[in-house]
Amino acid sequence: MSFKRFKKALLGIVTAFIVFAGVLSPSAYAAVDNGTNITYFGAKPKYVFMFIADGLSYSQMGITSAYLGAMQGKVENQALTMMNFPVVGSAATYDLTSFAPDSASTATSYATGYKTLSGVINMDETKSKTYETITEKLKKQMGWKIGIISSVNLNHATPAAFYGHQASRGNYYELSQELISSGFEYYAGGKLLDSRTGDFNNLDVYDDLKANGYTVATTTAQFKALKGTEEKVAVFSDDKDFTDDTGAMHYEVDRPASQPSLKDYVSAGIKTLENDKGFFMMVESGKVDWASHANDAASVVKDVLAFNEALDEAVAFAASHPSETLIIVTGDHETGGLSIGFAGTGYDTHLDLLSKQKVSFIEYDKQVAKFRENGTEFNDVLASVKWNFGLMTKDDEASAANPLLTLSDYELATIKAAYAKSMTDPKDRKLNDEENILYGTYEPFTVTLTHILNQKAGIGWTSYAHTGLPVPVFAMGAGEELFEGFYDNTKVFYIIKALTDVK
Ligand SMILES: [Zn+2]
Repeated sequence: MSFKRFKKALLGIVTAFIVFAGVLSPSAYAAVDNGTNITYFGAKPKYVFMFIADGLSYSQMGITSAYLGAMQGKVENQALTMMNFPVVGSAATYDLTSFAPDSASTATSYATGYKTLSGVINMDETKSKTYETITEKLKKQMGWKIGIISSVNLNHATPAAFYGHQASRGNYYELSQELISSGFEYYAGGKLLDSRTGDFNNLDVYDDLKANGYTVATTTAQFKALKGTEEKVAVFSDDKDFTDDTGAMHYEVDRPASQPSLKDYVSAGIKTLENDKGFFMMVESGKVDWASHANDAASVVKDVLAFNEALDEAVAFAASHPSETLIIVTGDHETGGLSIGFAGTGYDTHLDLLSKQKVSFIEYDKQVAKFRENGTEFNDVLASVKWNFGLMTKDDEASAANPLLTLSDYELATIKAAYAKSMTDPKDRKLNDEENILYGTYEPFTVTLTHILNQKAGIGWTSYAHTGLPVPVFAMGAGEELFEGFYDNTKVFYIIKALTDVK
């Protein structure tokens, strides 16, 4: 037998073995995985959705699922859509700076397969070399359309890592210029921050986007008028009624029904992006992170539910393109050190108590600012505490019927001390070591109220920053089995690369 024929025969035997192994176990033959060099033999997707809930790990997901069960009076998880996906893996999130990384470095890992320093977007640790992103590769090499959606400002770290390359995540102006010149087909979310002025009112960017062929929608009416046939679209949250003066979308708990939701942005995005070659859509829920920083579990739960509804849009798309679609759902890192269980409640949980909170922490901060301006006495704010958080004193006539929401003497003293601190102008406020742990950088009165409501619900927080917990990576659709196991977050990039044939 000639060497050539021998090689051919050997290849035949190997192929037969691979096929045979495949009969036994689909995941055993589907791929050859040499770390960063993965070869996949199964059907490949041409529509890829990557849903990232910023700051979400198992706890943010688990509490939301348990909350739904608790609201039905049961100790039972109500599965979120992601939890019904056939495959789940876990990703380690540390970066080159810390085991508690930030969104710039972790999104860089997803977008490029490289670890870098906290705060750096798609550049190496010397901040001199730029990395090409999966989105740039897909557009350039495969002709796919690209969509980027975020509930926070579109030049915040996570969305920016899918189009930008900057030594600092704070280079908002430069990132907005990269967004404009990216040529990506669909952007929707919070307004672009401008590092030169420190706000989000740079109207020039809209003119530049229009000059680059974008149909720009800056109001809800303009968004609703989109047809889906526009070549390139950029949608920014409505000018009016911002809850937090940052240009981001509302927290779900505060969002007026008239304002678009994350789900609306996804469904409009699918219309703009759908084409025969393929598309990649990244959808970020950015405020799961912001609410977790502030230790506000009720706002976390509502934003995870809004994220879940947005995900349902992608699942509906996948149902009509089953063998061609891949949906990945993950977080980028955990925020807040959230847990089901608190030292003061032992094994008891009352997660339904979170439903008593009517506004996000940031919206309540505005009320606290008014109390400060008006010099309102502590006893006169108790009605507002009850209305917004459900919490009441022993003297309240509803107390006997609501023991779980009644403040103990210790809790009442705690919120009274926090209120006194909040009545000092933030500029003149000095926190001692203990107060730094009690309040972080947040409004003392508000963060104490969310802490107490969360604790009564049986929820604990350990940090106002990011933590080093791994994140879940759920997958459904073409290539899903590659996401099984425990791996580094950089591997997510290499899997998408293998599944889309880019170099
Ligand atoms: Zn964060």
